[in-house]
Amino acid sequence: MASQRGNRTDRGLVERLRKRGGESILRCIQCGTCTSSCTVNAITSSYNPRRLIQIILTTGLVPGKEDVWLCATCGICVERCPRNVSPMDIILATRCLLFEEAGKIPPDSSRALRSVLRFGRAVKPRANIKERRAALGLPKLGPDSGDLSQIRGQLKAAGLLRLAKIEKKSARRNSK
Ligand code: SF4
Ligand code: SF4
Repeated sequence: MASQRGNRTDRGLVERLRKRGGESILRCIQCGTCTSSCTVNAITSSYNPRRLIQIILTTGLVPGKEDVWLCATCGICVERCPRNVSPMDIILATRCLLFEEAGKIPPDSSRALRSVLRFGRAVKPRANIKERRAALGLPKLGPDSGDLSQIRGQLKAAGLLRLAKIEKKSARRNSK
């Protein structure tokens, strides 16, 4: 993932982030306003957008741990940054890199992806929800309610179908 280590900015990594919407990263002055405003940081201090930007700029590494997946994309950091940086877009760009270059997505996202493939929605409809919908005269949920080919086509175009199959095989192997 990293093209170099060291206490200087990796231009190659910045360019890859720039192409994915993270171009504002070089304007960051590490003031910490994003972190002190961040809705996720208010709940867990292990998530720190300023530090994520610092890691990228000083090590040339894309932070590969769970951190980047915790961003709730609320956009407050974007509104408050005094340098017109968009930490949110930088974090989204790192997610793209992790997926495109290392095939990484967190396990919960992988489960949601498989559910979308099977049921057309990220959370599998539970039996009690189906019963309540039927009692209210609402249409059925699930694969029997419609054609999923359009959703599958979009997932395939985004390269996610391949990933879901890889994840499925790996889950089967792990359960043996
Ligand atoms: S608020 Fe802006 S300038 Fe300050 S640390 Fe966050 S991204 Fe950098
Ligand atoms: S968009 Fe992400 S990084 Fe920015 S404040 Fe919201 S949760 Fe924090």
